Amino acid sequence: MFVTLRSQPKTAYNPPTTIHLQKNQNHESSNKYSWDIVWFNVFVLGYLHLAAVYGLVLVLTGNTKISTICWGLFVGITSSMAVTGGAHRLWAHKTYKANLPLRILLATFMTMTFQNHIYEWARDHRVHHKYAETDADPHNAKRGFFFSHVGWLMVKKHKDVIEKGKTVDVSDLEQDSVVVFQRKYYAPLVLFGTFIFPMLVPWYFWNESISISWHVATVLRYVMSVNMVWCTNSAAHLYGTKPYDKNIGPTQNQMMLIIGLGEGFHNYHHTFPWDYKAAEFGNDIRNITTSMIDFFAKIGWATELKTTSPEMIRRRAFRTGDGTWDGDLTEMKRNFVEKKLDDSKEEVWGWGDKAMGRDEMREIQISNGIICSE
Ligand SMILES: [Zn+2]
Ligand SMILES: [Zn+2]
Repeated sequence: MFVTLRSQPKTAYNPPTTIHLQKNQNHESSNKYSWDIVWFNVFVLGYLHLAAVYGLVLVLTGNTKISTICWGLFVGITSSMAVTGGAHRLWAHKTYKANLPLRILLATFMTMTFQNHIYEWARDHRVHHKYAETDADPHNAKRGFFFSHVGWLMVKKHKDVIEKGKTVDVSDLEQDSVVVFQRKYYAPLVLFGTFIFPMLVPWYFWNESISISWHVATVLRYVMSVNMVWCTNSAAHLYGTKPYDKNIGPTQNQMMLIIGLGEGFHNYHHTFPWDYKAAEFGNDIRNITTSMIDFFAKIGWATELKTTSPEMIRRRAFRTGDGTWDGDLTEMKRNFVEKKLDDSKEEVWGWGDKAMGRDEMREIQISNGIICSE
């Protein structure tokens, strides 16, 4: 679909404000929800959070061996990076390709996070991107901070989530043997990977008590890492700036820039979901997930890394940004001319979404130098 930019005089800067349609405006949120509580989930999540507080007390009072704390941090960070770099950027958005060893590695660590199997994680995330801030969004931020953070896991899914979920293409996930295997054996795998294995290591290798191992290396580690991910759905959809698209909910959130392992540039990410960096600026220690993918690209395990061209970013920041973009728009303001773009007519979930416009696809750069032509 063609989205026409308004004609502007060449010298005057008068940013167009209405050209970017509210793509999800047809999916208005309703204030009347039936809160169908899943009490089992409430009990499990409640217990885990209370036990995590006890685990924190064990750490702060010096009752935990340093090795156990280091082990908890190691498992927490590596498994979270398997979510950000694997379930998210690889499987949900197809921002790059990974060979079999890398997919097995990512799936193994991802299984240590108890965040649903890859198939469900990626499918729900595609629905989140396509229908963000509507009832079809699994963690619709318009229902408040608590719901988008954790509440959505305590109630039955809204019927729109299920209905729209069926319309999102997941054929690629169904053909990935690693995804299929993890889904098939998820229950025993996640029980061992998330809860038993991280607890056994400190107990077996450095004689930590089984109770401290459980409360620190398993529960505290799990609760901290999962809350970090949940903040992307809550804080990064409610608080922050919108340099790339002010018409959508996701933001650039300062807190998430520190704790998000590279997932805090959320306004950028929702605007350009095919970009493996999930960010324009800050690709340093703040975006450790990008560093990980770069490393695997160097050794040849990750290929076809997609990025957005600087020109495309500048144009978008000019057209729809809220004015907080870090780059220079002087030239753009001087030379702005009317132009027709074959843009997407709806939100896209990432590379391969059929709703992507041809101009968008044409400008996406792939790491080996190929510019996609169709
Ligand atoms: Zn995403
Ligand atoms: Zn989001």
